[in-house]
Amino acid sequence: MLSAIIVDHAKHPDRAPAGKGLLTLMADARSIPELLTAPERQTAERLVRAATRYVPGLEKSAGRHFVHAFTHGLPEATPDALRRRGPFMGRAVRPVEYAGDWVMLRPASEGAVRSGALAASRVLSRLRPPRSAGRTRPASRPTEENVS
Ligand SMILES: Cc1cc2nc3c(=O)[nH]c(=O)nc-3n(C[C@H](O)[C@H](O)[C@H](O)COP(=O)(O)OP(=O)(O)OC[C@H]3O[C@@H](n4cnc5c(N)ncnc54)[C@H](O)[C@@H]3O)c2cc1C
Repeated sequence: MLSAIIVDHAKHPDRAPAGKGLLTLMADARSIPELLTAPERQTAERLVRAATRYVPGLEKSAGRHFVHAFTHGLPEATPDALRRRGPFMGRAVRPVEYAGDWVMLRPASEGAVRSGALAASRVLSRLRPPRSAGRTRPASRPTEENVS
């Protein structure tokens, strides 16, 4: 029934009014087809009941519920994409690098940010060492001229 509980009020201080909490209960993929057509109240009740196992007392203390449903919510990596991922991630550094949540096969902002950091570090690894390397002059800061 339940795939995740997101503690939203811990993600940002203004997500819930002072003294209140905000949880996101994500339904399990197998339950979604059935829940998409279920009345919202029933969906909320079932998810809250399942989450009470992990958040004792939730069933009694939960105040307001909002049900959001996305029929095509999450892209899923196909077996072919998984097969190609190893060679893609192991490819040599090239002048063109890629960033985006798809790089991590994970449709979330964390994956998007990580892929950006990875692309940046791959680009930086192409910077030639400064000409002064090995001499006593301090190394210059890398500039665009250093990028080959
Ligand atoms: C409804 C919904 C809820 C979500 N909730 C969460 C959440 O709670 N937590 C979480 O971590 N993630 C969440 N995500 C996922 C998260 O938003 C994405 O994983 C993340 O924004 C992807 O970042 P990105 O930079 O890879 O791509 P995007 O944010 O999609 O950025 C790509 C950009 O490229 C532009 N672009 C596309 N094609 C071209 C082109 N040809 N030329 C120029 N520009 C182009 C687009 O306009 C866009 O601005 C949610 C996504 C959706 C749809």
